[in-house]
Amino acid sequence: MEIPPDELHKDVSILYVEDEESIREGYGRALHRISNNIYTAQNGQEGLEIFKKHRPDIVISDIKMPIMNGIDMLKFIRKIDPHCQVVFTTAHNDSAYLLEALELEVNGYLQKPVSKDLLKSKVQKLSQNIVKEKLALLQQKEIEAQKAILQNVLDHEQNLLLVTDFQNALFANKAFLETFGAKEIREFNQRYSNILDIFLPLPNYLHQGLLKEGENFYDMLLRHEDTKRTVTLITVDGEPKAYKINISKIVHEDIESYLISLTDITKMNIQKLGTEKKAFYDNLTGVYNRNKFDELFESELNRVKRYHNDASIMVLDIDHFKKFNDTYGHLIGDEVLVLLAKTIRNNIRNTDIFARWGGEEFVLLLTETPSDIACKIADNLRVKIEDAHHPKAGQITASFGITQLLASDTIQSAFQRCDQALYMAKAAGRNRVECIV
Ligand code: GH3
Ligand code: MG
Ligand code: MG
Repeated sequence: MEIPPDELHKDVSILYVEDEESIREGYGRALHRISNNIYTAQNGQEGLEIFKKHRPDIVISDIKMPIMNGIDMLKFIRKIDPHCQVVFTTAHNDSAYLLEALELEVNGYLQKPVSKDLLKSKVQKLSQNIVKEKLALLQQKEIEAQKAILQNVLDHEQNLLLVTDFQNALFANKAFLETFGAKEIREFNQRYSNILDIFLPLPNYLHQGLLKEGENFYDMLLRHEDTKRTVTLITVDGEPKAYKINISKIVHEDIESYLISLTDITKMNIQKLGTEKKAFYDNLTGVYNRNKFDELFESELNRVKRYHNDASIMVLDIDHFKKFNDTYGHLIGDEVLVLLAKTIRNNIRNTDIFARWGGEEFVLLLTETPSDIACKIADNLRVKIEDAHHPKAGQITASFGITQLLASDTIQSAFQRCDQALYMAKAAGRNRVECIV
């Protein structure tokens, strides 16, 4: 908002104090042509009352006046406003007062009779400073207003926003401050003397430990792929959270600062994990599903073909499972499945791949294991299952079919042998292990 200086002169307010009526009226008129805000008074006391009420920018006053003279009035005015612009109009016989006036820092003297042009130019000169101050104040107010609007806009942003020189936080939005439980930026800066301390030194996330010599966080971010630009921090609730980080460089009047924007991806990661979980794991038992098993089986079969590794597969099927469902209900049947899966998982190696094949059938891929060892492992598992005991359904038993993978196998041929072995175990009375090599 630009205001022409002449307009601002019109806004400068002037108090004119003069006891002689004809002079007061004459100069009063002249002053009205300069400014819209002219107050006149007949003596110091009246002048002081007006000053207190209207706080004029400039006081032009006679010195020698009845009731209260100009010097005494100025003494009071200085107490109220030490910086008020004051001009005395003086006559030749005022010299005694003038010595006193010297100590009061007067902004000018006009010799009586004052020429109207001189008065005008003096007032305009003083106005200049006042106008400048007023303009600066207006600009300041405008900047403050703009800042308030900006703060308001940024506070509605859900991303955490921070402007920093990588030492201190210079500006932060509400979301950022709330994440750290700080009411204002000063409180945040008191807690973190180094802004980079907020990022946890976790593997796979960016933090200050990864900075090379002479590099700042912005440079480091640039040499990482977009997908790797993630950080973690601890929120006020002690909760670790993951964020995607973006930094823009801001150069203003040769000063560099950086706008850091943090997008919470904690939920996204959980969701992603959730979808991954659905794609790979069986809902009921939490072990791998058939899809994931197929994928892992194929890569193991390739290793057997290429490196002639020993690997065996084992299919196990709960004996008379239908009986559990029929006697205790489907929910107990489910519990039996969960118990069996848990029992097996707790008794195999990390490298073994265990999956639910469907219904009450499970499959186990044993890497680096020839069939004779697989049989021993199976028998051990068979006993563990026997011992597991469901609180309602009681003892569970399962039958096992085993085969070793051959370099010539496909997934179908391997499972054909395995199923055949299982059939043999069932046929031979269940709760048994059979192997076809
Ligand atoms: P066998 O000893 O010959 O294996 O007899 P079985 O009763 O275990 O075998 P069968 O294949 O006849 O029956 C399997 C039953 O498993 C039939 C089916 O309803 C039940 N079943 C399949 N999936 C689930 C499941 O997720 N939960 C429950 N509770 N039952 C299931
Ligand atoms: Mg069965
Ligand atoms: Mg079955």
